Amino acid sequence: MNPTSAPRGAPRVGFVSLGCPKALVDSEQILTQLRAEGYAIAPDYADADLVVVNTCGFIDAAVAESLDAIGEALAESGRVVVTGCLGARDGGGFVRERHPKVLAVTGPHATHEVMSAVHAHLPRPHDPFADLVPPQGVKLTPRHYAYLKISEGCNHRCTFCIIPSMRGDLVSRPLAEVMAEAERLLRAGVRELLVISQDTSAYGVDVRHRTGFWQGRPVKTRMTALVRELDALAHAHGAWVRLHYVYPYPHVDEVIPLMRDDLAHGGLVPYLDVPFQHASPRILRLMKRPAAPEKVLDRVRAWRASKPQLALRSTFIVGFPGETDAEFAELLDFLAEAQLDRVGCFAYSPVAGAAANALPGAVPADVKELRRVRFMEAQARISAARLAARVGTTLDVLVDAHAHAGRGRSKRRIAVGRSHADAPEIDGVVRIEDGASLAPGSLVRVRIEAADDHDLAGRVAGEHERAS
Ligand code: SF4
Repeated sequence: MNPTSAPRGAPRVGFVSLGCPKALVDSEQILTQLRAEGYAIAPDYADADLVVVNTCGFIDAAVAESLDAIGEALAESGRVVVTGCLGARDGGGFVRERHPKVLAVTGPHATHEVMSAVHAHLPRPHDPFADLVPPQGVKLTPRHYAYLKISEGCNHRCTFCIIPSMRGDLVSRPLAEVMAEAERLLRAGVRELLVISQDTSAYGVDVRHRTGFWQGRPVKTRMTALVRELDALAHAHGAWVRLHYVYPYPHVDEVIPLMRDDLAHGGLVPYLDVPFQHASPRILRLMKRPAAPEKVLDRVRAWRASKPQLALRSTFIVGFPGETDAEFAELLDFLAEAQLDRVGCFAYSPVAGAAANALPGAVPADVKELRRVRFMEAQARISAARLAARVGTTLDVLVDAHAHAGRGRSKRRIAVGRSHADAPEIDGVVRIEDGASLAPGSLVRVRIEAADDHDLAGRVAGEHERAS
């Protein structure tokens, strides 16, 4: 962020953004509002008149990181406003007890409250330059991809999770608002929209799928309808749309046929991020997970039958309280059957305030870790086999950045990108050996020549013209 593009003498706000993509979107909204009101964003603590820390409270490690960040900001700057998930714990009491000198504490998704706190302690500049803010708002992601948050909160009560107590029940953003934001982002050059929420499949449930309007047409506030509109809009701009946090409810079946086989000109990519968390029906019931566990494998098979290139990503928890060796084995069997493309796995960590902590049968730490390692080894073999099958094929790849490969005399500049099977930050990459001249955001066809456990490598087979 360039602090010099704010008016001379503008008050300077430092910003620390921690946590998941949903928190990142909150940070972007606060930063956008700060810039819209004429505040400058300070590049470091020394330059900041006040610091906003957007915290995460999901697991103990995130809580510790957030508390450290607040402590550091207080030590360096002295004036700190705390927002985000950790701020919601005990109505702000959790943070205040540990850092009594903070100026204000708010929960997540609280741009208005954060701005009120900033105004109270660092008055807004007299003459805001609203035109200094780009129409798509301030983004923390690279210019060519952006997260699009479609709802806030969650109606489920998974026993390992405290998000609903921090972010509340599901509140869907109006369809027209989501679409307008998507259009602004695409017009600003974004080439991939990453749709996020706590539960993307539940979009519109809270408003009983009421009819919204987009470009003069009635459109239901419903996941399928939204995805259809986003696909058409993104395709018109030659950009991709990728869906995250999709629970395997029956209506998700309607989304699969909307995924594009040809991604050269954008549209909905054949990728679903479905957080299964476990496969044992008993453990899933203890977790109080949404969606019927018995049907999951059938659903995965049906999706693959209708969309063979579909890449499936999921996350799992091993060592949940009461998980037996047999139930862990059930999970490994599921993994072998489901043949997921991308998988993350956590050893169960008791989050303060989560209902699961009261369950009997805590799994010892060394057993949890052993199960996690065994799980990831099994998945690495599956991933390696699935990626090896792509060698010799040609994939559409979105270029993210440049990197150096090799050493000494063989050191060379390459491009690094992602196919439909790779979300940024969490999945693998495609290394493009002869991609040194490709600009980030380019969409190219790549002939795949090699694969390892998680990544692919290849050479350019053609570059696509950008639509609009
Ligand atoms: S679905 Fe479960 S894990 Fe996800 S946010 Fe809701 S309660 Fe938490």
